[in-house]
Amino acid sequence: MRFVFLGPPGVGKGTQAEKLSKRKNIPHISSGNLLRESFKAKTSTGIKAQKFIENGLLVPDTLVVEIVVGKIDSAECSHGFILDGFPRNLSQARILSDTLDGLGKTIDWVFSFTASDETIVNRIAGRRICGNCDAQYHETFKLPLNSDVCDKCGSELYRRDDDNPETVLVRLQVFKEQVRDLMDFYRKKKGFVEVDCEGDNLGIRREILEVLSGS
Ligand code: AMP
Repeated sequence: MRFVFLGPPGVGKGTQAEKLSKRKNIPHISSGNLLRESFKAKTSTGIKAQKFIENGLLVPDTLVVEIVVGKIDSAECSHGFILDGFPRNLSQARILSDTLDGLGKTIDWVFSFTASDETIVNRIAGRRICGNCDAQYHETFKLPLNSDVCDKCGSELYRRDDDNPETVLVRLQVFKEQVRDLMDFYRKKKGFVEVDCEGDNLGIRREILEVLSGS
């Protein structure tokens, strides 16, 4: 099964993607995580991408496409994948579609996650990430067992630089500028589902599983 998870930053799509990835045993491919990992590894792509990330802007397609397409085409994705944060604009959606055509594959499901700006800003404000394995935590909704330390790998948690309130507003604005074209592209395809993310994670997770079990 191949999934695309669309939605604004902080809407909770990463959390849902992580759970579904475990349940379906398919990789969770977060373009944001891949870019951050590239930066940590000091690759030229990561270094070039960093200034866009810091400013809340989209990284140029050529850089993102290179790392995401490389993953999709790899053996670990042969049974499917969940794309989280990619595509982010119409041109990436078209590249993804052409790439999959070339591999004789298609996207089965596109989940579009929505929430109000207020909910998003509040969720991002409390978000903490593991510096080693990228696991996500939240000051209010998902505390680690030991404060500031990841439950999974014991590494220290941090707040992403681009999760500061000013940059979050830029990221939201960037999302809004691109989302209409992206929705127009996917809405008319089969397997498009809108998910309201105002509620709690468990309820959202159940909704996704219900949609999949009814298919
Ligand atoms: P995320 O972790 O999905 O919130 O992404 C963090 C940042 O990485 C974004 O604000 C962008 O700067 C960059 N980024 C992630 N995915 C993409 C993408 N598909 N296209 C362009 N930039 C991206």
